[in-house]
Amino acid sequence: MRILIVGGGSAGWITANVLNAVLNGDATPSFEITLLEAPEIPIIGVGEATVPSIRRTLQTIGMPEREFMKGCEATFKNVIRFVDWNPGAQYDHPFDRRQRPETDSQVRSWLASAAQAPFDKTFSILSHLSDHNRAPKAVGWPDYGSTFPYAYHLDAAMLANILANWGVARGIKHKKALVRDVEIGKDGNIIAVTTDAGDRYSADLYVDCTGFRARLIGEALGVSKRQYEKNFLCDRAATMRVPYDLHRPERLRPYTLATAKPAGWSWDINLTSRRGLGYVYSSAFLSEDEAETELRASEGAHTDKLEVGHIRFETSKRAKSWTGNCVAVGLSDGFLEPLESSGLYMIEFAAQALGELIPGYRLAPSQTAAHYNCLTQGLFDEVKDFINLHYVTSLRCDTPFWKAASDQSAVLDSLRDRLELWRTRPPSDLDFALNQRLFSLESYEYILFGMEHCVYRNHASDAGNDNDISSLVDKCLAKLPSHEEWLRLTL
Ligand SMILES: Cc1cc2nc3c(=O)[nH]c(=O)nc-3n(C[C@H](O)[C@H](O)[C@H](O)COP(=O)(O)OP(=O)(O)OC[C@H]3O[C@@H](n4cnc5c(N)ncnc54)[C@H](O)[C@@H]3O)c2cc1C
Repeated sequence: MRILIVGGGSAGWITANVLNAVLNGDATPSFEITLLEAPEIPIIGVGEATVPSIRRTLQTIGMPEREFMKGCEATFKNVIRFVDWNPGAQYDHPFDRRQRPETDSQVRSWLASAAQAPFDKTFSILSHLSDHNRAPKAVGWPDYGSTFPYAYHLDAAMLANILANWGVARGIKHKKALVRDVEIGKDGNIIAVTTDAGDRYSADLYVDCTGFRARLIGEALGVSKRQYEKNFLCDRAATMRVPYDLHRPERLRPYTLATAKPAGWSWDINLTSRRGLGYVYSSAFLSEDEAETELRASEGAHTDKLEVGHIRFETSKRAKSWTGNCVAVGLSDGFLEPLESSGLYMIEFAAQALGELIPGYRLAPSQTAAHYNCLTQGLFDEVKDFINLHYVTSLRCDTPFWKAASDQSAVLDSLRDRLELWRTRPPSDLDFALNQRLFSLESYEYILFGMEHCVYRNHASDAGNDNDISSLVDKCLAKLPSHEEWLRLTL
């Protein structure tokens, strides 16, 4: 079977490598995988923060952790730290999960407790490790292994590059040319694509990884999109890279900083050679020039000569990611703003799902596509609700953007009833579908309690905090090196 992947960004190369590993493995390859990309169209170049699933994906691909981290100038990510999403507040969304159901009663006593210990500091060790700038693993621990779930920050262009080299060395064919024409048959399936070099490529399955251009699924096949601009106001990002030879921060943070701003929020990500900064904002409330000025001002005079990139996006999802013999993965399929680093996760999920579904595709094509569409729509909806939650629970109303973003009209219908319920009682498993994959009860707790969307917290008991993780935290602090030390000794 021939699979043609068009596009060589993170989506293209993650998909190509996962499919090659899963479908071809060590056996004689029975799936011919070709990746075609246009050298004159650069990849989007953002997508620097990941979630822990990336470790499993890289293991599937077979790449050693050190090779990956060195090749992408990667650092660790333990938590996302949210600053100013409520006036003056700060809280973490960590990757470690409290033990269930053992700690359920501790959550109840935390809610009843008069002590003001924040929820993240009461239940997450990674939140403490982040305060102390610690790596989530000791030097010499096995590749991708730790007591804690952890993720990375990475350079997106470097990721595509090392995955390209890795894949080509393992049999993926790599062609460089622009797709100019797409031939479509009477049945609506793609017959072939032709390039500006005059070559014609034909395949059994076409994977559209052409980013926002959506050259196959959108331009050629015209598959419609569902849009969500009413609920997601941000539609622009201003981005900047600050190299350490220009300005080195005091320490390399093992977490993503997500700071609320007057017309959106900013990210601050530390790699090993530079920081990646971005201001995600709404064009209805801020112009490109204003965003750039604000981004530079928040950083300081050393940024005067640095280039600022401007990205436009919309929050949308293809109605049918898999249509006929074409499946869209990555930005061509849909996009939700990067607040919870879900973009790469959705690509990883798509690639793994395709790896499982493609072998049965010829025997049951329409059922395979329908099932895939159901899975990816479910995941998109899950992420959509969770990102919406961050805005609509905010008590900020200091700017027109925040008034609009936290207004009732911005609440997703799929979230509205539960938000009301969570005013009256804490979230529980009952409130989530059984197949939630990325963000379920524990993630919601961190956001809802961090944002103080818990008026039922009764402060009735002075028993204090009966989930004392302090001795565990001390043990970990004694054992784990600083983030920089781990990077220096390992990479
Ligand atoms: C502002 C912003 C911040 C983000 N931050 C994060 C984050 O922190 N974490 C995260 O997980 N995700 C993040 N994302 C999402 C992430 O960047 C993307 O999911 C990821 O980079 C995948 O991009 P892609 O490969 O689909 O598209 P691209 O990187 O745009 O690649 C498109 C490819 O298609 C090729 N192409 C296009 N047209 C043609 C043609 N006609 N012929 C041949 N080839 C063609 C191009 O050459 C290129 O190789 C962010 C996105 C944005 C917009």
